[in-house]
Amino acid sequence: MDIINIHDKNLFFIGGVVRDELLGKESFDIDLTYQGDAIEFAKTIDGAEIVQINEPFGTVRIKLNNEEIDIAATRSESYPQKGHLPEVQNIGCLLKEDILRRDFTINALAKSTLTGEIIDYTNGLEDIKNKTIRVLHDESFIDDPTRIVRGLKFAIRFGFELDEHTKKLQDEYLKNINYDMSFKRLKKELIETFNLNSTEAFKRFVEQGIYKLISPKEFELPKTNLENLINKYNPENIWLIYVGLLPDISNLPLTKVEKTIVENYKKICNTNLTSNFDIYKTFNELNIESILMYATQNYGLVTHYLDNLQYVKLEITGKDLHELGMNPSPKYQECFDYILAQKLENPELNKAQEIQLAKTFFNII
Ligand code: ATP
Repeated sequence: MDIINIHDKNLFFIGGVVRDELLGKESFDIDLTYQGDAIEFAKTIDGAEIVQINEPFGTVRIKLNNEEIDIAATRSESYPQKGHLPEVQNIGCLLKEDILRRDFTINALAKSTLTGEIIDYTNGLEDIKNKTIRVLHDESFIDDPTRIVRGLKFAIRFGFELDEHTKKLQDEYLKNINYDMSFKRLKKELIETFNLNSTEAFKRFVEQGIYKLISPKEFELPKTNLENLINKYNPENIWLIYVGLLPDISNLPLTKVEKTIVENYKKICNTNLTSNFDIYKTFNELNIESILMYATQNYGLVTHYLDNLQYVKLEITGKDLHELGMNPSPKYQECFDYILAQKLENPELNKAQEIQLAKTFFNII
């Protein structure tokens, strides 16, 4: 927080940044809120250049000492349409009202930029000390069910637990989910949660029934530990390896690549892979994510491919076949497949042996 060198009695650090500082963790974005008119306030900051103004939200981005800083005005919110984005009510309201629109007490702390005092209207300090995640009111999950996933994310990230009453509210909500919600926001939280690559997160997600936020179809926790495989192969879409295992995620807005990953996973689940050649040909075409998902169905087969088969490469090329007197044709591919099938059984085959196999294939004496 040292980079922010603005001190004002109405300007506060707020939310995650205060929580992270108390936990001794680094924060990636620094949220500042101004009690009053943030845009007018920004204009008075010495040496600050206004970069962007968002009137409807009362937010302003300034550039100060080469650093871009966002300052939001305090605001209160309401949820006329439960599960969707809130409506902004009162911009420039009292800090307390801004605090009370937040998700958990640990995220509802403010710190004065003037005095460094922590402002704690919701007992967040106590909850941080006790490693507890607590909502601010009983309607919290009804207003915004994505908070259930956020709660899981923070629990895993910090090693915290839901307080008993919050857990009860979560259970109640999960028994009566309103599927008319913003799945775009839910997806964002799922990505952040499962990109943490935690078996424990997935376990809680399934065992607590949080997965039902996406679809009510029943799902059982797979026994495979995906965490180690994911660490080893470092896929881009970690979250999808977990969430894509659910029977139906059609509510989530997926990109084309994400859709393909899930479709391919489902396809291999319905394919009978018996020979090394089948395994190689099938997996070689797929994103690593689909392959890792399939580890929940057949761990041995996936590790066999990833540890051994995927590295098998033919040395023989089209040029070699040409030199054997064969003109380019679809037969080339058939010949390569013929050799590959044997090389997968015996990876020690060298180039001379591959050429010998090509001769056999083409009946060249
Ligand atoms: P992270 O380290 O994951 O960024 P963060 O707490 O900063 O954690 P953000 O998603 O950036 O998370 O949100 C900033 C702050 O906005 C939160 O600390 C919280 O006070 C508030 N907030 C975010 N999402 C919600 C929500 N769905 N409902 C209520 N308040 C929220």
